[in-house]
Amino acid sequence: MNLANDEVSRLISLLTIEEKIALLAGANFWEITANSRLNLRSVTLNDGPFGLRKPEILTTGAIGEKTIAATSFPTTSLLASTFNPNLIKEMGKMLGNECNDQGVDILLGPGINLKRSPLCGRNFEYFSEDPLVTSTLACALVEGIQSEGAGACIKHFAANNQENMRFSVNAIIDERALNELYLKGFKDVLKTNPRAVMCSYNYLNGIKVSENHFLLTEKLRNEFNYEGLLISDWGAVSNPLASVKAGLNLEMPGPSVDQEQIIRALKEGELTIEELDKAIRPQVALAFQLSNRSQKPTVCDYDVNYRLAQKIAEDGAVLLKNDDEVLPLRNNKTIALIGDFAKAPHYQGLGSSAVTPTKESSLYCEFLANGLDFSFAPGYEPNEITPNKQLIQAAVELAKDKEIVVLAVGLPEPYEVEGTDRVRLDLPPSHVALIEAVSKVNKNVIILLTAGAPVVMNWLGKVKAVLHMHLPGSAGASAAFNLLFGKNNPSGKLAESYPKQIEDTPTADTFWQSKRNMPYYESIYVGYRYYEAANINVLFPFGYGLSYTRFELGNIAFHYDHERKEFVISLTIKNIGNYAGAEVIQVYVGKQTSKTFNPKKELRAFQKVFVKKEETKEVQLKVKVDELMFYDSFNHKWTLENTTYEFYLGTSSVNSKKIGAYTIDYGDDLAHYEGFNNLVPHYFKLNQSTPFSDLSDEFGKLFGGPLPLVSNYSKRPFTNEVSLEDTKAYAIGRKLCRKALRHVKSDEYKGKNYAPFLAENILKLPLRSFVELTNREFTYDQVEGLRLILNGEKKKGMLLLKSGKGRLF
Ligand code: BGC
Repeated sequence: MNLANDEVSRLISLLTIEEKIALLAGANFWEITANSRLNLRSVTLNDGPFGLRKPEILTTGAIGEKTIAATSFPTTSLLASTFNPNLIKEMGKMLGNECNDQGVDILLGPGINLKRSPLCGRNFEYFSEDPLVTSTLACALVEGIQSEGAGACIKHFAANNQENMRFSVNAIIDERALNELYLKGFKDVLKTNPRAVMCSYNYLNGIKVSENHFLLTEKLRNEFNYEGLLISDWGAVSNPLASVKAGLNLEMPGPSVDQEQIIRALKEGELTIEELDKAIRPQVALAFQLSNRSQKPTVCDYDVNYRLAQKIAEDGAVLLKNDDEVLPLRNNKTIALIGDFAKAPHYQGLGSSAVTPTKESSLYCEFLANGLDFSFAPGYEPNEITPNKQLIQAAVELAKDKEIVVLAVGLPEPYEVEGTDRVRLDLPPSHVALIEAVSKVNKNVIILLTAGAPVVMNWLGKVKAVLHMHLPGSAGASAAFNLLFGKNNPSGKLAESYPKQIEDTPTADTFWQSKRNMPYYESIYVGYRYYEAANINVLFPFGYGLSYTRFELGNIAFHYDHERKEFVISLTIKNIGNYAGAEVIQVYVGKQTSKTFNPKKELRAFQKVFVKKEETKEVQLKVKVDELMFYDSFNHKWTLENTTYEFYLGTSSVNSKKIGAYTIDYGDDLAHYEGFNNLVPHYFKLNQSTPFSDLSDEFGKLFGGPLPLVSNYSKRPFTNEVSLEDTKAYAIGRKLCRKALRHVKSDEYKGKNYAPFLAENILKLPLRSFVELTNREFTYDQVEGLRLILNGEKKKGMLLLKSGKGRLF
């Protein structure tokens, strides 16, 4: 025990029971309770993952609705596409710097959940479908933030892989997939010792995560050795005692939903003082540590940070197509700039990650500022799904006689939002119709795509180029301009596969079901691990991205270093094109034979290399032999299988070649896996015509016991997690469904940016999400009113429903 630990123990011993209990929950929405008697200061926690979102404090002292301006960095899917941990660490430093400037102790990010389906509404906030990409970049971000003295809070631990029913869905995951995919990123990022971890809303294998002892204590504390602060997601605690018992330190926001319960439990011996002391230890340690930190004056230059945000956007944008080298553009061409996004750029998603930017750029302004000869047409109405014939016609007229069309399209605001998932993978019909019409009259269409998650592109063959900006933050348009005109060379790579159609995804038949129990039938077959094993061609593979230049890889060598227990892959990379640029070298490893089922290959190392024109560089990548282990769910541990491992090197999951093999014979023969292929044959030989949901018997065997189901919502009493559709068994439920559908399509909703999305999804959304989705016009009190009405308490319910200004019925 060191001095600091002794001091923390001493402080805990001086706290009264009431003071201790007060530390189990926040003091308010954004702060941990202070203790002035012992000089323990309050600790401030604020969103979010790619830009600060600190609410302004009104002169009255109350928390305002607006948030203080901060740098709007690119969202996480773009950060991942940089494959550039050094740059992401720089971003972390700037985020930490802004935290210091605005007095924030813990930043609520990054989000590191794995992308199970491209439809998840919050995928723009997550890194990848691959745990190595996720953890490498998230580690860099956390290290950067914390190097400035601020804290990071990784979230949402764990298996928060969908937004529909995020408060109530029960993720049923077999032990291997859980360890190899859904927990792996967390396990690895915990090595950077983030100041906090946030537990998720959902259930995991039958138990609500905020009460899940297996996850919060056995995994997080005992196996991953995490000693920092474990907090709940906002509103994830419904039973504080069960949460404390499971290992949670802090319920957020505060004050607690039920403090009395803790007091009773202490009296009745259900909770011991030792358990209480243990639960508050990280908070006390943190407050002690921060109270003693000397406050360095902060120098924070938001202009410098804005420029870094632009640099990152340039580094992570992915050039998906560039026929006839139509890009980069030259200034002497006549250009039609089409698409409302070019004037009113869309650069971030909706929800707790949305930042009030310090400044913004637009492509339209960039074109003007650079003195370009161009004409503009909007082509579609902002956030309108239905094609607008007149606007399309005007765009077509404009495009006809121009040499080049730059067409800005993407997913409008309500498509990518916390609390709901997307329904389809396409762009809205208004954008698709515009692309179709314009590409008929002009052969040089360049698509500038803004979307934080994959979209399908049935129009791809009709356009010359696609530059994918993801959701690039508020400097995104300047970044796009630099890339379009060759002031910088695209070098981003997709950190997730882009399927040709939603039917090809492994979760196609299960994801969008709004069912409480969600078995992850596909097990370890997520993203490219699935597409490769099932022999499905994708639109763009994992790791893919073009450049304005070309690279030649040579002198590839591969050996095993016995002493260091690592494989060393070396090569040279030569830039043989006309632009300086960067390539991401990727090493994948697969097993030649195995007693269990496996992906064909998995990413085990990557490195982004910058190479000047005509320059040749030597590159070395390393893979620790331990990284080849898989999770043996019979013996509940990581194991190295005795077999031959094949190494592939390349520039995407598809474009990679076998470079060598190595046989390991000192590991495990897996004798206990004998006959496993007869038990779960389909997992050994995937077949797309048998959807995973038809494999429920086999999944049961893989799971190793009866599935831990929770009861379905379709009977009273309803919580605010149900969707209107869930209540259809009751006459009042059916009536409200009809009313809501009618209402969100009525004139009253015309022009509201969230209306199209609501019109499409209103019946599937959890009642609780109406608040975020209507920009808080519909209040939590109104949600409660609705819930009461659905439960038959009409009078009380109506009073609450009428208490706010939000109208949905
Ligand atoms: C989100 C978190 C966020 C928190 C505080 C929750 O609804 O899931 O990611 O940090 O709110 O805004």
